[in-house]
Amino acid sequence: MITVSCSSCGSKLFRYQKIGKGRLLHCWKNRISSDHTTRRGDDVYCLTCGQHIGVVEAEWANMHGGSFIVKGSALKK
Ligand SMILES: [Zn+2]
Repeated sequence: MITVSCSSCGSKLFRYQKIGKGRLLHCWKNRISSDHTTRRGDDVYCLTCGQHIGVVEAEWANMHGGSFIVKGSALKK
């Protein structure tokens, strides 16, 4: 599991099951285990400070580079 936090205020945004190496570019909705963000339409914002985090598509959220910090480890393939 990884924890995705806001780069602006440090608040937790998601707990997420990341699989494989590499940068986090999008989050599959069905792998998000807890969600502390708020939505306006398809846009995802930090609940605490309102920073724009990403945009929700059909099955995943496209993450806005630089808006978040990732901690924890991904599952190895
Ligand atoms: Zn924030």
